[in-house]
Parts: sequence; C-alpha cells; structure tokens
Amino acid sequence: MAGDQLHQLRLHEARRLLESHELSARDLTEACLARLDSVEPYVKAMISVCAEEALQQASAADRMRAAGKAKPLTGIPFIAKDLLCTRGVRTTCGSRMLENFVPPHNATVIDRLLEQGSVLIGKTNMDEFAMGSSTEHSAFYPSCNPWNLDCVPGGSSGGSAAGLAAGEALFALGTDTGGSIRQPASFCGVVGMKPTYGRVSRYGAVAFASSLDQIGPLTRDIQDCAVVMNVIAGQCEKDSTSAPIEVPDYTAFLGRGVQGLRIGVPQEYFVEGLQPDVRRTIEDAIHELENMGATIRRDISLPSTKYALAAYYIIAPSEASANLARFDGVRYGFSRQLATTEESVLATRGEGFGAEVKRRIMLGTHALSSGYYDAYYVKALKVRHIIREEFRQAFEQCDLLAMPTSPTVAFPIGSKIHDLMQMYLSDILTIPANIAGIPALSLPCGFAHGLPVGLQLMASSFREDLLLQVGHAFQQASEWHLKQPLL
Ligand code: GLN
Repeated sequence: MAGDQLHQLRLHEARRLLESHELSARDLTEACLARLDSVEPYVKAMISVCAEEALQQASAADRMRAAGKAKPLTGIPFIAKDLLCTRGVRTTCGSRMLENFVPPHNATVIDRLLEQGSVLIGKTNMDEFAMGSSTEHSAFYPSCNPWNLDCVPGGSSGGSAAGLAAGEALFALGTDTGGSIRQPASFCGVVGMKPTYGRVSRYGAVAFASSLDQIGPLTRDIQDCAVVMNVIAGQCEKDSTSAPIEVPDYTAFLGRGVQGLRIGVPQEYFVEGLQPDVRRTIEDAIHELENMGATIRRDISLPSTKYALAAYYIIAPSEASANLARFDGVRYGFSRQLATTEESVLATRGEGFGAEVKRRIMLGTHALSSGYYDAYYVKALKVRHIIREEFRQAFEQCDLLAMPTSPTVAFPIGSKIHDLMQMYLSDILTIPANIAGIPALSLPCGFAHGLPVGLQLMASSFREDLLLQVGHAFQQASEWHLKQPLL
C-alpha cells in the first residue's frame, strides 16, 4: 500500500501489516500526521495535536514489538474526545473554563490504550462539556463533516467522528450521554458504540450526567470496534459504577450470522420528522437482515419512548448542574479574582461557561429546587423507570432492536443553532438507550441526500456481543463501511 494511503487502513488491516513487519508504527503514525496536516484546515476535528509525543509513542511501540511484547493495539494511532483526561496533555472539554487545564492523570481508558502501545495523535473537538449535537457549541470552532464541509459532523463527539472519517487516526474515543457517539458516527459514516452503563470505566472522563455518561469507541468497521472494546471494557477500582462482570472476547462473536435471531422493529422509532430517504435506507437494511435469516418482529412496542427526550432534559441538566458546580475558579481552570468570593465565582462562571452550558445549569438548578423537585426531577425518574421496564419486556420477545440512529442526515452548519428544539430532537432516537442504560451501536447502512445514514441496534444490558455479531453480519453483506469521503 502506498504511503499516502496508510491512513485509510482499518485497524485490523494495519494490525496485520504491523504483525508481519510490512509496516512500522512510526510509518503509520507519520502517515496519519501527514494526513492530519493536509485535511485539518478543512475538517477542524482537533483541539490539540500531540505530534511529537505521538512519534515517541510510535517508536516505543516498534520497540515493544521488536521485543516480542506486542498487543492487539500496539502501534495503532487514535484520537480521543477532549473530555478524557490525558496526563500532560491539555484537556479542555471544548470550554473556555478548561482552556488551559492540563490534567495530572490519565482516564482509565487512556491508560489501558497507552499500556497496549497505542499512539495518541491528539484530542478532538466537541460541544462544550458534551452538551450539543453538532460541535457548534464548542467554545473554539465548529468541526466540519468530511462528506460535506458545509454540514456538521454531529455531536457532541463530532471531532472524533470527523477526524476518524477524514483519516486522521485509525480509531477514536467518544462519550455518549444521550447519543454523542452514535449520532456523529451516523453523520460521518463510521461505526460508533455506546456500551452498557458500567461496561467501561468512566474514571477520568469529565462528568456531564453521571447516571447516563458512557465512554465508547468510534471505528471504521465492526471488527475494529470489537478489538477496541476488548481493551477498554471491564471493571476498574477507580469507578465504583463499573461492573464486576467478565468481559468476553468480543471478536469471538464475529462471523456467527443472524440465523435464529429475533430483531424487533419498534414503530415508535419511526417518528414524525424522520426524513423519508433515511426511513427508506433503514427499511432496506432491515430487509437485508431478514434476507440473511433474522426474524423481524414488527409487533414490538415501546410506547413510552415519546417521553424519553423530556425526561432526559430534566435528568441530564439536573446532574450537570451538580457536576459543574466544581468549576468555581478555585481549583480548576479559568479564574477571575474580584473583591469578594461571590463576585469571583460569579465572574468565573459567567465568563468561563458558554450559553448552552449556562442554559443547562439553570434548567437543572430549577428542576432540583425545592417546590419543583417532585414535579420535575422525581417525575422524570419515574418515567425513566417505565422506559427501562418497557425495554426489559421488549427483550423478552426479541434479541435486539433495530431503528434509525438519527431522524436526519447531517444538517448544514448554522441551520439549527437558533432552534434548540430542532437541535435537541436530533437525539430523540438515541436518548432512550442512555435512559435505560443498555448498549447501542450505530453502523453505516447507506446514503441519503449524498450523506451517510446510520442503522442503530440496541440490545439488553451487557449484550454488546449481540450488537457486534449482527453488525458484523450486516457489514459482510454490504459495502457501506468501505466508503470514504473524498477530501
Ligand atoms: N445532544 C445531547 C445533549 O445535548 C446528547 C449529548 C451527549 O450525549 N453528550 O445533551
């Protein structure tokens, strides 16, 4: 393969070449950095690039291999959302508040990848504190969709999806509180998985809504997703919500087909506002799964889905208002010092946070305030309980659920920024999985209006294996995951 095409490799292809010594980690890293140099001015996926450190890590990876100590991800370049703490590398959360914050420690997922000898190329752009669906709420600049630079890459992990689709690395990490891995994966034509709540340690991920947040991979195909999950999943003593449940070898489920599996297609996910061409693409994908031997069940119903978005916009801001209270100018990041403590805190938070973050803090503070707590927060928790219960019942009748990831393809930059309801509706199909804590996957399944469409699969808790099994079967019968944007 020509040196100027190395950045297009899928992770498992690169791994084969590294293992057979046809390629060095150094060459692969240089190829990604060269690609980044040429496309970054258009895509703007990154907040920080660590070229020098990456080259050092690549050389260390080559030495690790020479010493016979290589692991599955040794020498593979990746990019990470800028809310995952990286020791010595600025971690901004897309916010002025943390513009110059350099963490003293790594997130567990970063540690696990670096221990494997993976190479960190840089930190990706995102909506401030992960609040948004387009990266337009980044305090720095919006990222652009590599398939059409006038469109958003989705969000909040938009930089991770855009950078991966543009060839700046071989895989990416994102976080998903209401859809922030799956929606950008769908918009940029890559695979994105939100694991079960508790499957991946959240230690070192700056918290947005602690009962909903999960870290997960964005990759070029399903095999790659399985390989990254093998490394990042599993209990961690620094996150008490990480589950003491054994991690299977996810690659062992690839190639098993869909024969005998029951796939539910809940009509509640074919919502008003679903673009007709997106619907057609998803229906085609579901027919494909049926042709391959899956049983399609259209009688599965999740009637409370329509309340998920409303419940999310109470629960997530409430938790955010508590989590973000720590940014007071005393311990972390941006700080204004005025005559009194109160004035200082007000000025720090007033200047350090952007408009969307302030809106969420106000919403959350209001929902938690005395007199409103029962009417809003407690009620939202009750809705959450009902939604969970409906999923539990659905998974007694079928093994997985299939639906669109997003009601639309990527939208033009600027088109929803002044219509927040439209922006929030972008996640209407992804939020229920966070509310229920279950795993969900988005994978490329076609194009509409010249832009990628993602098929979403959901399974019951800790059944990531089923998502990968079915995703892989679909991928083997299609070529959508091989398409790359012309940049
Ligand atoms: N777009 C949703 C929000 O703005 C979800 C964000 C996320 O998953 N981090 O809250």
